[in-house]
Amino acid sequence: MKKVYLDNAATTPVRNEVIKVMLKTLKNSFGNPSSTQHSYGRKTRSIIEKSRIHIAKEINAEPDEIIFTSGGTEANNFVLRSSIMNLKVQYILTSPLEHDSVLQTVFDLSKNYQVLVEFVHLQDKGTIDLNHLEKILKKNFYKSNKKMLVSLMSANNEIGNFLELDKVFSLCKKYNAYFHSDTVQIIGNVPINMKQLSFDFATASAHKFYGPKGIGFMYIRKSLIKKIKPLITGGNQEYGIRSGTENVYGIIGLSKALHLSCCNLTNHLKKMKYLKSYCISELKKIIPDVIFNGLSDSLEKSLPTILNFFYPKKDHLLYFHLDLMGVAISDGSSCKSNNNKNLSHVIQSITKNKHLLETMMPVRISFGIFNEKKDIDFLIEAFKKKIGNR
Ligand code: PLP
Repeated sequence: MKKVYLDNAATTPVRNEVIKVMLKTLKNSFGNPSSTQHSYGRKTRSIIEKSRIHIAKEINAEPDEIIFTSGGTEANNFVLRSSIMNLKVQYILTSPLEHDSVLQTVFDLSKNYQVLVEFVHLQDKGTIDLNHLEKILKKNFYKSNKKMLVSLMSANNEIGNFLELDKVFSLCKKYNAYFHSDTVQIIGNVPINMKQLSFDFATASAHKFYGPKGIGFMYIRKSLIKKIKPLITGGNQEYGIRSGTENVYGIIGLSKALHLSCCNLTNHLKKMKYLKSYCISELKKIIPDVIFNGLSDSLEKSLPTILNFFYPKKDHLLYFHLDLMGVAISDGSSCKSNNNKNLSHVIQSITKNKHLLETMMPVRISFGIFNEKKDIDFLIEAFKKKIGNR
């Protein structure tokens, strides 16, 4: 049976070149990277440090600003928790649209560590209300002077909305707040230059850019690294910040995947925009009054890899039926997909008309490098069959 995978924002297939380099390393390099007394250990240490240099180069960071983690969830947890413990942050400003690895951590910090958390208001289509952000930054800066951390994702994983990064950078500078951004959906998909951007912390995950699962990294601005103490203690790996024998095979896979993605970003973005605009126009033909969620139908204001719309019927078997027809898509809240009753927190937060939530289903289509126009045609045919059977 023909199968089409259009859930690339949840995870991507691993590139063959990545599998090849990982297998080679698995076969030939087993030494413990901390056992630098002998050549076995030095060989794997060198693989890790070369990978770190390559990764840093791709995003124009310094190698010692890259700390490997088990992925985006750990990286986001680490940044938020250590900003409280090491940087003495007492006030976190975030949004209701963040990934659960940020939201659940922030809830925990507020409940168990008395950290004040404030949610920035949303404007139309889920854009962050920057006037509100400035208002709360200003109020705290002049009145209570608590140390602040702004945590806002650079691009949303469900609706694709881009954050207006330049404006957030200047607000954080103006009011002396640290800035953390969950960059999991943009690293490997959009060009990033850490020297030109003013992130204090950013996070990445290899399985979002055709690398392996279980490996990612956090970017920590050089001037802050010395202030960060470990949350996982032990053998002092990763500059003493994150102990544990390194995932050498994951690290080399991440490095290869990021390199392959970054050396072809212009063509990649062009192709993703083409697939997205084709999909938008084909969807409009079969659902003339289709409602797109967030800014996802904008080619400039949202990730070209993500399109989110309301399927005009409440049909809990939608994804199951599409899967039987060979189409893999989801509603985008993969962490909650075991519990159908839990509608995406992102869609709930941005949908003013609650009737839509009761009568329609959010659908996320996410494109990747292995997709072609014919995959969109296949998806549209499957939707046509579903709609015809309504
Ligand atoms: N942040 C965003 C925006 C994501 O899309 C994801 C993955 O779904 C994560 C964080 C978590 O990354 P990981 O799967 O590597 O833990």
